[in-house]
This record gives sequence, structure tokens and C-alpha cells, in this order.
Amino acid sequence: MPIDDTHDPALASWVDSANDPASDFPIQNLPFGRFRTGSEPAWRIGVAIGDQVLDLRAAGLVPDHDMSRVLQLAPAARRELRRALSRGLAKGSAEQSRWRDALVPMARVRMGLPCRIGDYTDFYVGIHHAMAVGRQFRPDNPLLPNYKWVPIGYHGRASTVNVSGQPFVRPSGQIKGPNDERPRLAPSQRLDIELEVGIFVGRGNPQGQPIAIGEAEDHVFGLALFNDWSARDIQAWEYQPLGPFLAKSFASTVSPWIVTLDALAPFRRPFVRPAGDPEPLPYLDSPQLRERGAFDVQLEVWLQTAAMRKAGHAGDCIARSNFADAAYWTVSQLVTHHTVNGCALGSGDLFGSGTLSGPQPQQAGSLLELTDGGKRPITLSNGEQRTFLLDGDSVRLAGYCQQAGRRRIGFGPCEGTVLAAGSGAPPRDDAQAA
Ligand code: CA
Repeated sequence: MPIDDTHDPALASWVDSANDPASDFPIQNLPFGRFRTGSEPAWRIGVAIGDQVLDLRAAGLVPDHDMSRVLQLAPAARRELRRALSRGLAKGSAEQSRWRDALVPMARVRMGLPCRIGDYTDFYVGIHHAMAVGRQFRPDNPLLPNYKWVPIGYHGRASTVNVSGQPFVRPSGQIKGPNDERPRLAPSQRLDIELEVGIFVGRGNPQGQPIAIGEAEDHVFGLALFNDWSARDIQAWEYQPLGPFLAKSFASTVSPWIVTLDALAPFRRPFVRPAGDPEPLPYLDSPQLRERGAFDVQLEVWLQTAAMRKAGHAGDCIARSNFADAAYWTVSQLVTHHTVNGCALGSGDLFGSGTLSGPQPQQAGSLLELTDGGKRPITLSNGEQRTFLLDGDSVRLAGYCQQAGRRRIGFGPCEGTVLAAGSGAPPRDDAQAA
């Protein structure tokens, strides 16, 4: 993933809003998503530029609106598409008059899931989260002995991954408190968030053919923000011995734009293990990975209660973290480990990173950590308190990359709102359609 003239911080676009330093989508970013306007039946493929979406087919850059075709582009072809977008959207471009008609204002579009999600796997790469949660569930034995050797994960449900903006219903499940004799079926009272990064697989692999660590990033299209909503009370009762199940599968929310690994090239960092920790096994190690395996992505969690929304209050930032600081395993290690047994990945598969808590208490990516297991409520700026989420609460994740001498790029919103248990299926925007 070379840094080239598409990353030049001096590059400006003829789409004026993209040159606003506050925009998540300057010409250096160019993330991919699917959108439609009004009652259009089919999704279109677009690239975000400032407050506009460029329709890729109308711009003559793709033959149709099949996102899987874009996801499966070989790295060289993907970079060529990025260069074409960058040239066409740059100030003074000859494409300006033609492409102007291919722009749709973001305010007029509805975003879908960025692609049809095949399988969804959730990892557990946040070591500070694993320690903090381990302490609550197993005080004597917080970090299990495999953690520093194996990227831990489980297979989740793609069927309930929502795109940002989609509300979801508070889950019910079996709950058994520490002093209860028997479990009961009830709405979760310990509904939580998990601040994660989503990883979209671009090109798959045939069953039986593992992906070597040196090729792993060629199989990743890009990253998004991901909130893996979790019902802690259901989780505590069901998780042993096979891990998460219904405590996780009721809803997850992903942001609509895939920020490509190419766009993230200037924001890479060395992957380092703390002194004294085991080195990764050779199949999970490479010089390139050590040099720049990690992604420097700043992450934020914003909570807006129903009362705040009514008062026109944008919400409070309740945690800040960083992907590189929080993750014990890198994206390429996840790809390689997932396939080492011959498992086939498919184009459009989604990985969750796991909760990305930093080492400090205010960097925690879940309410479980922020409130010490619900024992110490957090107080919000309007005086309300929270341990876990209440009905009407809305959580928005934000993410961006920022470095001196580089143009800041952002991920766009990843937002979801909790509806009361039993309020019925919220309208779903056919987001899984191909
Ligand atoms: Ca998770």
C-alpha cells in the first residue's frame, strides 16, 4: 500500500465541501458505500466526497452497481480506480463538467450496508478490554492462557448487522442474577455497546488454501466503524462453555462507508508487543507487519439520551480510544489466522475487531468497563446518569485518522438507537440486498 500523490495533503477538489478541514471525506479519503434516493429499487455504488456522493456508474468508472465486483478487484486495479477517482475529482480536472451530473447530495440519499455481508466473525483483539472484562467474570484468572498466542474469535450472525441509522429492539433472553435460584425470560437490563472496527474482506480464498501473512492485506478491502451491541446479563448466563450466542446476535451496527486500506496508507504504525510477551508464531509474523502492521485510527463513543435529543443536545463523548493502542493483533493476523485451517473467506465477509478499549479508564469501549460492571454510574452533562443503555438512548461511534502533515480523513457516523423491548420489528431498509 504505497503512499502516492492521491494522499498529497495539498490536493484539493472541485467539490468545495470536500476542502473543508472538518469534512470526513476529503479527496484523500474516497470511501465506498451503497446508496439510493427516494423509492429507487436498487442500490447504487458511490464514493463519498465532501457532502456529496459520486455515483460510480454515472461517472463511467464501473459497468454496473455490483459492489462485490469492486470488492474483488486485485490490489493494482483497486489502486488504479482510486487514482482515477482522485484525478477526476481534483481541482482543474477535465472530468468536472461530466462528473458534476454524477453527484448526489448526501442529504438526499439513504445509505445501505456497503455490501451484502456473507459471514460475520467477531474477534477479541482489545487486550485492555479482555483484561477488564476477564477481571469482572473471573477475578482470579482475567486473561486466559491462550490470549497472547491465538487471535480469539467466534462466528456471529450476518443476518442482524444493521447499517448506521437503523434502530433496534432491546433483546429479551434468559437472565439469572447471582442470587436467583432459576433463570427467567426478560428484557435485558444490562444492554451495552462495544466500540469496534469492522474489517471488510475484499477477495476471498478457496477452501483448503490458507492466506499467508504477506498476502493478507491484499484480501482486505477496507475498514469501517462497528458497534457490537451486547446484552451483558444474557451473556453472563449463556457464555460458558461455547462463548457468545444470543447476547450478541440481536443487532450490530456498521458505518456505511468502507475506508480503503489504500486511503489508510499514511496512517500505519509499527506493530509492537510489550517487552516480555511471547512473539507471534511465525505464520502470524513478518517484517512488514512489525514495521507498519497497525492502524492509527482515533475512535470516539457519543451517547445521546432521549431527553438530550428532545432538548436539541448533540450528546456527550463518553470514551476515546485508538485502534493501534488497543489492539493486540493486527488486521493481517486476523485474516491469516482465520484461514490457517483452510477456512474459506468470501468477498463481503465482515470481521469485528473486538472492543477497542485503551489502557486508561476513560478509554474504555464498553459501559461494562466505564461503569465498573454497572456499580458506578456515569453522569452525563445534562445531569442524567447511566450504567447501561435505556430505551431511547442513541449511541454514535466516530473515527478518524489525523497526523501532522497529512489531511485528516474520517469514517462517517455509526449510529443506532435502542427501542423498547417488544416494540416490534423496526422498518428495515432491505439493506442486505445484493
Ligand atoms: Ca464484540
